[in-house]
Amino acid sequence: MELSLIIPCYNEEKNIFPFYEACKEALKSETEYIFINDGSKDQTFLEIKKLILENPKSNIKCLNFSRNFGKEAAMLAGMQKSKGKYVAIIDADLQQNPKYVQKMLDFLKDHGEYDSVACYQEKRIESKLKIFFKKRFYKFINKLSEVEFPENASDFRLLKRSVVNSILELKEYYRFSKGIFSWVGYDTYYMPYKVEERKYGTTSWSMKKLFKYALDGIISYSLLPLKIATVLGFISFIISIIYLIIIIIEKLTVGIAISGYPTIVCLILFFGGLQMILMGILGEYLGRTYMETKRRPKYIIKNDVDINTLKR
Ligand code: UDP
Ligand code: MG
Repeated sequence: MELSLIIPCYNEEKNIFPFYEACKEALKSETEYIFINDGSKDQTFLEIKKLILENPKSNIKCLNFSRNFGKEAAMLAGMQKSKGKYVAIIDADLQQNPKYVQKMLDFLKDHGEYDSVACYQEKRIESKLKIFFKKRFYKFINKLSEVEFPENASDFRLLKRSVVNSILELKEYYRFSKGIFSWVGYDTYYMPYKVEERKYGTTSWSMKKLFKYALDGIISYSLLPLKIATVLGFISFIISIIYLIIIIIEKLTVGIAISGYPTIVCLILFFGGLQMILMGILGEYLGRTYMETKRRPKYIIKNDVDINTLKR
């Protein structure tokens, strides 16, 4: 098998057939299609089964999750299932044109020194607010973290088998693929591509989901927030010592009139708030540690189908 295509699908019923047609036209190599139906609420799974039955000669497989586990889990399942020498990850919504897969493949074959190719958007076609927050996020996480997060690089990639095997060795529950791709290293070539409009359906990324994703990324790849507590505690300790010395000198020289009530209230509120925030940060890490220790599976497969199982 030369190429495995991993296609995470969540509510993509109308895109399945057009997507396959576009792939068939664009790809020249022997290809294995792995659709992952990530708990879609529409007819996606039925459509994929229909696609398999209508194209018995093509190598199409589908993993049907027992519920929605997220794109990260879907990509992982696909990689575990894949057999190809090269593995590509591509969205089902046709925003990522399959012809770039062929382009990436040709590039990797011509340039043996590279191990993977990642597509990046030269220009984002999203709301200004999303672009703004994403920019901030990349600035922030690149400051905090040791691995590098290239801005605008997407999950739309082609990987050599060796890279896939390395990725599969990372067993963490909270998977942040952008970090994982960087963490495993290897030489990645960044190829510009043009994102197309979604064919059917809507994006499943709300602002809230994006924030949660960003937080996962920061916490998974940096321990710096934990150090904030140490630094702030140290600073306030030194300030309090200085203040103590001032008070003692004041008492010994001029004496103290009773006052400073507002100051005390402000200080109590300030340090109370600060402690809460820092405890919250601790809690975020602790919670994730707790989840990791449970060692739950990252996804559950309800059906694993291909042409052979469907015909039976
Ligand atoms: N997706 C998925 N599980 C989810 C959400 C999305 O498998 O919980 C898939 C979705 O079907 C699509 C890809 O991930 O193929 C990218 O999702 P989407 O198009 O919503 O994201 P965007 O392109 O807006 O970043
Ligand atoms: Mg999309």
